[in-house]
Amino acid sequence: MSGLLSVADAIQSMLETAGDFLPEQEFCPLMSLDGRILAEPVVATITFPVFDNSAMDGYALRYTDAKQLTGTGLPVKGTVYAGHALDTPLAAGSAVRIMTGAPLPEGADTVIMQEQTRLVDGVLFATQLPAQGEHVRHRGEDMQQGETLLLPGIRLTPRHIGLLAGLGLTGVRVYRRLRVALFSSGDELRQPGEPLADSQIYDSNRFALTAMLQRLPVDIITSRWLPDDPGLVESALRDAAGTADVVITSAGVSVGDADYMRDIIAGLGQVNFWKVAMKPGKPFAFGRLGRGWYFGLPGNPVSSMATLDQLAQPLLRRLSGELGYCPVQLPAVADTAIRKQPGRADYQRGIYHLADGQLHASPAGGQGSGLLRGFCTTDCYLVLPSEQGDTAVGESVQIQPFGALLK
Ligand code: AMP
Ligand code: MG
Repeated sequence: MSGLLSVADAIQSMLETAGDFLPEQEFCPLMSLDGRILAEPVVATITFPVFDNSAMDGYALRYTDAKQLTGTGLPVKGTVYAGHALDTPLAAGSAVRIMTGAPLPEGADTVIMQEQTRLVDGVLFATQLPAQGEHVRHRGEDMQQGETLLLPGIRLTPRHIGLLAGLGLTGVRVYRRLRVALFSSGDELRQPGEPLADSQIYDSNRFALTAMLQRLPVDIITSRWLPDDPGLVESALRDAAGTADVVITSAGVSVGDADYMRDIIAGLGQVNFWKVAMKPGKPFAFGRLGRGWYFGLPGNPVSSMATLDQLAQPLLRRLSGELGYCPVQLPAVADTAIRKQPGRADYQRGIYHLADGQLHASPAGGQGSGLLRGFCTTDCYLVLPSEQGDTAVGESVQIQPFGALLK
């Protein structure tokens, strides 16, 4: 297959190749869980809160005694701190000083916050009566033991890690990291730190793409530059295919004389397609290498990053075990006119801001696919569908703020 695929069809057809693939599972301790993909359901090991406790620093009382706060007052008998419990119930007609997180004394059902009270010779008064049950966190209001809390396929974030630690777990089972081999290619490339001769440029893609991949739950098992030598490229890719789940190359996939990547992949595996109706991004190759997957990214620096972000990322996440990845798009007002030819989806780079409750956006930084400096001044894509032509000032445009791989 070699037609011009729409972005959505390309993503869909790549996702379909995942079939029921899932990486093996491993136990991962709390400290290393950020960004990993959960492989097992998480069930509440405890009921939480474990006991009724105070949500405020203040005074615990029986609601039936509350009206005395504006009359004769309530004598304060004792203090209860977080981590400690009173061994006697709250006597009727009295209050107890209580700290946030401290267990509610038996008999108490309401907490009045300190700021709303006055203490005169050990007697508590208030100008405003508390509502019944106010500032009490009830046992089990967050979760009951045995409830399913998290399902496999979610990407664990600091919030989930807090929840897991709050359950007393030391870690959970996650999918192992995908093994990714990354290659830049081209005779013109030199590595940063080396001297640059005429006609040469620095290999920026290998570093930018590595940094992007490091934000996914993958192990970059190889990150190498390859010269335009088909024999060398073939043996490097053959080696990588033996150990990597995913092989990614940059450059060498267009139609120039030195663009041999597609033929090498076709010889070692299978090229599923190699043209997507996306700008920046043509050419982009996708295929299979043995039991693994292959992405051939364009050489132009902005294109290589944009295609890794837009086209490869959904399948990379899916192969890592993640379910439900969906980058957010938002409507914005075009602040400047946007030029575009119908025919290819255009992911122009731009800047956005909020003004008067409305998002505004405009292209920025120049749209050349090799202009890294301009790319650095932007913070979103302007997502212009393939059939769309020019956009006038004031018209609506979809934006996609840069996500986890780019910001
Ligand atoms: P190609 O796809 O090989 O035709 O390359 C397209 C353009 O991207 C050319 O201008 C290359 O010099 C440039 N390019 C290719 N690889 C890299 C790289 N790793 N870093 C920076 N520029 C690159
Ligand atoms: Mg080249």
